Amino acid sequence: MDNVAATLAIRLRLRERTLPYGALWRRQGEYAGGGFCDGCGERITSAQASYAVDFTPGVTPESGRFHRVCFEIWQGECQTPLQS
Ligand SMILES: [Zn+2]
Repeated sequence: MDNVAATLAIRLRLRERTLPYGALWRRQGEYAGGGFCDGCGERITSAQASYAVDFTPGVTPESGRFHRVCFEIWQGECQTPLQS
């Protein structure tokens, strides 16, 4: 997986507000695999560590799934002010 591509995808989603900016409520690690990452948009395989997260109530979307790497990128991006 390409971290630069994932970072750009996550920034785009933050800008389009398809990913919340911060608003992490709870996080659960899992290795279930299946589904797509809400960060980079790529499939999560059972070999990849991933997180199932719930966002703060009232935030849209309510929950998401990330590759572990993408989750960390997302958290990092949330520390940075959004660029217009
Ligand atoms: Zn991802």
